[in-house]
Amino acid sequence: MMSDSGLVALFEKKSSLFAISNCNLKGPVGDQILIKVEGCTICGSDVHTFLGRRSAQVPTVLGHEIAGRIVSFGPNNKRIDYSGNHLEIGAFVTWSVVANCDNCIYCKRGQPQKCDSNFKYGHKKHNPEEPWVGGLAEYILLVHGTKVFKIPEGLSLEVACPANCTTATNVAAFRVAGNLAGKVVLIMGAGMLGVTACAMAKFYGAKLVIVCDTNEKRLLKACEFGADQSTLPAGLSDVVSNLTVGLGVDIIFELTGAPVAFENAFECVGIGGKIILVGSVFPSEPVGLPMEIVVRKLLSIKGIHNYIPEDLAQALDFLNQTRHLPWESLVGKWFNLSDVDLAFQLAQSPEYYRVGISDAMNH
Ligand SMILES: [Zn+2]
Ligand SMILES: [Zn+2]
Repeated sequence: MMSDSGLVALFEKKSSLFAISNCNLKGPVGDQILIKVEGCTICGSDVHTFLGRRSAQVPTVLGHEIAGRIVSFGPNNKRIDYSGNHLEIGAFVTWSVVANCDNCIYCKRGQPQKCDSNFKYGHKKHNPEEPWVGGLAEYILLVHGTKVFKIPEGLSLEVACPANCTTATNVAAFRVAGNLAGKVVLIMGAGMLGVTACAMAKFYGAKLVIVCDTNEKRLLKACEFGADQSTLPAGLSDVVSNLTVGLGVDIIFELTGAPVAFENAFECVGIGGKIILVGSVFPSEPVGLPMEIVVRKLLSIKGIHNYIPEDLAQALDFLNQTRHLPWESLVGKWFNLSDVDLAFQLAQSPEYYRVGISDAMNH
């Protein structure tokens, strides 16, 4: 487990760290791409790391929900994104949070996020030879194996930054959920993942979307993003029972990582239902799982961690097609890089779905 003091020390030294980044600026080699970070939103997992709830090698440069512009290409770069679009200097891009090798056993069986030699942006130990590893910096160097995507024309920084984490992870969860047409969906958690999931469930044809959270303001926001019915945990089983005539829900997305949320949701699943676990990205107490009910109800329980590059392509397409939704309202505040410690304080408040760091914007 990383110690709090490790990260605090990192942020206390941040000005010297960023200074190192500036003076060590070298051109990209091979097929690397040098990116000027336009913006980086602080993900819930960054906050967990910052608070020491999940392990991380320190010192590190946190931040993986990044959008930036291409500064220069390595000499062997083909200047084509993963979807086949031409890339040029100045192009506004995002990329898969994990760079992978395409050759190991995990890559070959369609789990590139678990690549043997994966390089995960915003999760690497910082060292002077490899300083460009996170989004809370002025520049970042995209290494070999990074799947880069051009951001659709006109998509704002607020919308683009969370695409390569929140939105793409949701797409991965919805991919394993299968066809949503006519289905009743229950979304546990109305944070950034949850409101995005509400929008996605409606976009992919769910008949009814129920969202559950402990925060009433967040429930209202989830309804702006497409939830048909919202409820506090205490009312969940009655709401589900009434709306489904006792049949239960078809698909549950557990996005909170809280054992109690899983246990509440489990009560609501119908016969043949699927439960998709996404939120448990930090250690928690085990849950009591009645195996007999899993068997008798023909249930499927599936874990999702990160995503495959195709999910990010679909995430960008989804955001492009749902521009009418108030995505910008989810990034409550932007800060300059020099105010990153203040940004982390506010990122812990339930008031904000996301706060962002950007030196490119006027604050
Ligand atoms: Zn994230
Ligand atoms: Zn691999």
